[in-house]
Amino acid sequence: MSLSNLTSRISGFHRMSTAERLEAVAAFAGLDEASRAQLAAPGNIDPHLADHMIENVVATLAIPIGVATNMRVDGRDVLVPMATEESSVVAAVCNSARQCHDAGGFTTSVSGTLMIAQIQLVGVSDPENARLTILEQRAAIAELCDGCDPMLVSLGGGFRDLEVRIVKSLGGPMVVTHLIVDTRDAMGANTVNTMAEALAPRIEAWTGGKVFLRILSNLADRRLARARALWPVEAIGGPEVRDGMISAYHFAEADPYRAATHNKGIMNGVSAVVLATGNDTRAVEAGAHAYAARSGRYTSLTHWEVTAEGHLAGSIELPMPVGLVGGATRIHPTARACLKILGVDTAAGLARIIAAVGLAQNFGAMKALATTGIQKGHMALHANNVAIAAGAVGAEVARLAAILVERRQVRQDVAAAELARMRAG
Ligand code: NAD
Repeated sequence: MSLSNLTSRISGFHRMSTAERLEAVAAFAGLDEASRAQLAAPGNIDPHLADHMIENVVATLAIPIGVATNMRVDGRDVLVPMATEESSVVAAVCNSARQCHDAGGFTTSVSGTLMIAQIQLVGVSDPENARLTILEQRAAIAELCDGCDPMLVSLGGGFRDLEVRIVKSLGGPMVVTHLIVDTRDAMGANTVNTMAEALAPRIEAWTGGKVFLRILSNLADRRLARARALWPVEAIGGPEVRDGMISAYHFAEADPYRAATHNKGIMNGVSAVVLATGNDTRAVEAGAHAYAARSGRYTSLTHWEVTAEGHLAGSIELPMPVGLVGGATRIHPTARACLKILGVDTAAGLARIIAAVGLAQNFGAMKALATTGIQKGHMALHANNVAIAAGAVGAEVARLAAILVERRQVRQDVAAAELARMRAG
């Protein structure tokens, strides 16, 4: 078939079995047998389950889960499963946690498990009047919301608060209602969306306006997770290292270009645990970055200070909308097993550990940057990937990686040449 005849309009694709879809995709893309076999290989998830989780499934992608050791959170030692494709992320948490373990590890808390749903009302000529009209209906709104999810109410959750804001927009003022709902051990997106949709017609009737959007806000600033820890100055290599780290933090605090990378490092740890537990990485990422910009200037999610005794004190606070039920958390067997490793029985407990991991990750990155530079540790691990990509197998991987690091040339072309040389001689 000539390329110009290929069409992406595959009739009934969504109704095909996973194997049939893969065949269609393989034919379209001209996949060789090795690629077909790779995509067809089942991972540690039942293909039928994968097929029900999302649409048009053809395969699954396995990501390594590493376990972070040395973590002590609120007086309890925990092993933390982290799903990530990036080398050195897990090692950094282990190292950072080791350096504060004996000083007590991490102390954590949460602000609650409240999620916010937004209802956008437009077309009202008297927005101030509409705002108060909606606020007057608080009791009816509470009843309607709780009626949407009696199960949640029986678990101690449900409607908690009501806010109505007037948002100035390019299209004129909008009256934006916030439903504040305790979603307990669920992340709560579907839960609060259902409530917002149910309430929308009432808001239109009360105000005479027109409702458009009804959806949760990912700026989950009523669901903050916090962690703090103290790194004794002698455990981290002395005052010079400490001061270098403080200077790195000041840089991130002051400059959005640096803060974006600083916070990306934090999310290396956060997202890895969020993914391992089947939670929504995008929801947590969106919330974190929006929270980092809440003052109007994007800045660091962590704070670093020197105590009166000269030790390094780190803290983090960020939205953490994660659950133990809902989404993939309950249905993905690997996510369930990861939750068992963590030994948490509430969403708040999970959120607290994730915040601690984010802080540990930040410590590791800042220390590496302020001392040896990030490349040394990172490159040693990255060299393994480069060696594998060059074709090294078995014992060759470590040997070749060591050569690349030694030569300070962790590059694909160098790896290929060195591998050929190794094999020749
Ligand atoms: P869900 O609706 O599947 O489960 C929540 C429900 O589980 C609750 O309403 C409650 O009735 C029940 N439940 C049982 N035990 C519970 C307990 N101990 N605590 C609380 N509830 C309990 O899931 P959800 O958490 O409402 O939604 C999460 C999913 O929504 C994720 O997959 C996410 O990716 C997706 N989502 C996200 C967005 C977004 O972030 N913008 C938007 C839409 C959907």
